[in-house]
Amino acid sequence: MSATTMATAVTLTLTTDQEQSNSFTLEPGESVLSALLRHGVAVPNSCRAGACQSCMMRATAGTPTPDSQIGLKDAQRVKGRFPACACVPTSDLTVRFADGDTASRAKGVIRRVDRLSHDVARVLIETKEPVSYFPGQFLNLVRSDGLVRSYSLASLHSPAGVAPGDDALELHVRRVRGGQMSEWLHGDDVVGETVELHGPMGDCFYVAGRPEQPILLIGTGTGLAPLYAIARDALRHGHTGPIRLYHGGLNEGGLYHVDELRQLAAAHSNFTYAPCVMNGPASEGVRIGAIDKVVLADQPKLAGWRVFLCGNADLVNALRKRVFLAGAKMSDIYADAFVMKASA
Ligand SMILES: Cc1cc2nc3c(=O)[nH]c(=O)nc-3n(C[C@H](O)[C@H](O)[C@H](O)COP(=O)(O)OP(=O)(O)OC[C@H]3O[C@@H](n4cnc5c(N)ncnc54)[C@H](O)[C@@H]3O)c2cc1C
Repeated sequence: MSATTMATAVTLTLTTDQEQSNSFTLEPGESVLSALLRHGVAVPNSCRAGACQSCMMRATAGTPTPDSQIGLKDAQRVKGRFPACACVPTSDLTVRFADGDTASRAKGVIRRVDRLSHDVARVLIETKEPVSYFPGQFLNLVRSDGLVRSYSLASLHSPAGVAPGDDALELHVRRVRGGQMSEWLHGDDVVGETVELHGPMGDCFYVAGRPEQPILLIGTGTGLAPLYAIARDALRHGHTGPIRLYHGGLNEGGLYHVDELRQLAAAHSNFTYAPCVMNGPASEGVRIGAIDKVVLADQPKLAGWRVFLCGNADLVNALRKRVFLAGAKMSDIYADAFVMKASA
């Protein structure tokens, strides 16, 4: 018999909070997420690419595949946590939902939606209890029908408390044509709707310390949301090193918060803001060209820099390599790739 025909079936066992177990046989090449969904188990999920962490599970027997744990913190890895979408088990695995381990849940009400550009809206969400987060982290927003999508926090408040008047969570949402969540959030009747918030998650945020270290922030589109929060957080912590923010769009219509960022630069001598567009024409002060080329023309050597990259997934992944090759240490590069849910 050939090796292929001798391959034994892999069994996935799900243990619930009530300590009940259900076992399923996996199809060849099937991920934990696909198998659970195929058997009617409701698993929150969004990007299906291992980025958003909404389908996080924990292995209690057996080992998740090493590639499914790439990018997780050591503390998560040793606890057996892994995103179910990224794990195609090669041996039997017993799992449970990992939700309670790190992410908290809060109910929120959408209080305001303001237009920031032709396709970006600022969505303000109020929660009854303050949500503790580091500015720049992301949340998974769950609609009442269970639809989940990740959005980064553009607002500022510290885990230690909420400043008066700054207690709403601020998201910047780009409208994706035909997009289920973003079209809904851009709709007229969304104010007053209740949503659930899972998180905060991610390690794209400012950590106080090394105040003189130069900081580079690069993002496109709504990748500005976390960068806007991180830059202001660093400034309010008294960061003294240069903080350089590059925000790119295809053309000027893709930029937003230009006046706010110019005012921030005028108020802080160590903060600079460079709006960039791929295609001209552009107004005075707006650079024309691919954002990576613009950044590296200004800073060809990045040894010693702390770098934050957010937005379009392909660009973030390409930039990660380029800033590493320019000298930034991997441990100093923080990135949130806005991976979109794969089409069905
Ligand atoms: C960690 C993280 C943070 C994120 N933060 C933000 C944020 O701060 N702001 C923000 O606006 N988004 C953010 N996103 C993306 C967000 O989670 C959603 O994917 C996005 O809003 C689209 O969701 P949707 O339900 O509207 O579209 P969907 O219903 O998921 O998509 C509809 C269709 O459009 C396609 N599609 C989706 N996006 C694109 C695209 N860009 N170009 C072409 N086709 C596309 C899909 O493949 C699908 O076929 C983040 C994602 C991650 C993983």
